[in-house]
Amino acid sequence: MSREIVGKGLRFSLRHAPCAHICRYCLISESRKRSALPFARFEQLVHRFYDWRQARGRDDFTIGIFVGPSFDYDLETLKGVARLHARRGSKFGILNLGGLRRRDGDVLEAWLEDRRAAGIAGFHTSLAGCGETHDRWNGRAGDFEYQTTILRMGGERGMVRSERLFLTQNTLPLFDRLLDILDGIPGEIRSRVVSPFFYAGLAHRYEDERITEDIRDNLPERISRLRPARFDQWLSEREWIPIMLETASHPRKLLLKLDVDETNIDRLENASCEEIFAEREREYQESYQRIPELDELCARYGDPANRRIYMMSRDVEGRWIDLHWRATGTNPPID
Ligand code: SF4
Repeated sequence: MSREIVGKGLRFSLRHAPCAHICRYCLISESRKRSALPFARFEQLVHRFYDWRQARGRDDFTIGIFVGPSFDYDLETLKGVARLHARRGSKFGILNLGGLRRRDGDVLEAWLEDRRAAGIAGFHTSLAGCGETHDRWNGRAGDFEYQTTILRMGGERGMVRSERLFLTQNTLPLFDRLLDILDGIPGEIRSRVVSPFFYAGLAHRYEDERITEDIRDNLPERISRLRPARFDQWLSEREWIPIMLETASHPRKLLLKLDVDETNIDRLENASCEEIFAEREREYQESYQRIPELDELCARYGDPANRRIYMMSRDVEGRWIDLHWRATGTNPPID
């Protein structure tokens, strides 16, 4: 038996703006690859789904988008992404700094002012330590300096910021310095959270960098209070196991990712929304049929002695699926 998968909606994904980083913990494969599909056709497809959802009263159907891997959009794309956010009642106002190409001097200034004029209210940064440590994690010399320069320029112009600070064995000793630097940057901090790496993409290589129960229980208050409210249950594998087993037989509800590119756009444009969703749900279900149920995965691969910390049970499950793949050669399900 395999785990039952139920789609709760679609997350349309377009590789539109290649990433200028090669982060060692990147969740996205081939972050430098770009699709040849014009953004306008992608946008039209997503609008069609919003129209369909509205016409059918399908308020339970979630629509998400990811236009990436970086947010290094031209202004037309930026406005299109903002239109799609507006369809779900949210404002697209925060631009990720991860993966931006380098711009300096007047070019950087003009880039920032153009984005501000287009409605961007602030920036989001993800940092893994500071200085050379961050640069090494991000695969680009000078990146820490670059990102903090943009945050400073934004703050001086009344823009806000949000920050994700990765907490690992090697960034922990740098945290006081990092927080001092960030506290010295002007501007409103909309959110600041610390988090371990997600268990996904390339980050699965850094299990030894995870903090342990011991470190978690003795974190300085300055760091501990930055645990994200939504995922503040930082547990080790040994602590997750009983919690995961309680709900192991429940169906898994997923937002189904749909990559849209030049190879499938014609077909998607000519299929109904129901057909597209049903086909994707079927593909997910088939990919999960190859994987044993959660309690069986746990029995085979769960490690009750593992005291490393994971922010989500999904990270632990991802670890078991990887071990299953290594043991049996069974490809992981669609993610
Ligand atoms: S900025 Fe994001 S997409 Fe680019 S390499 Fe880093 S983690 Fe991956």
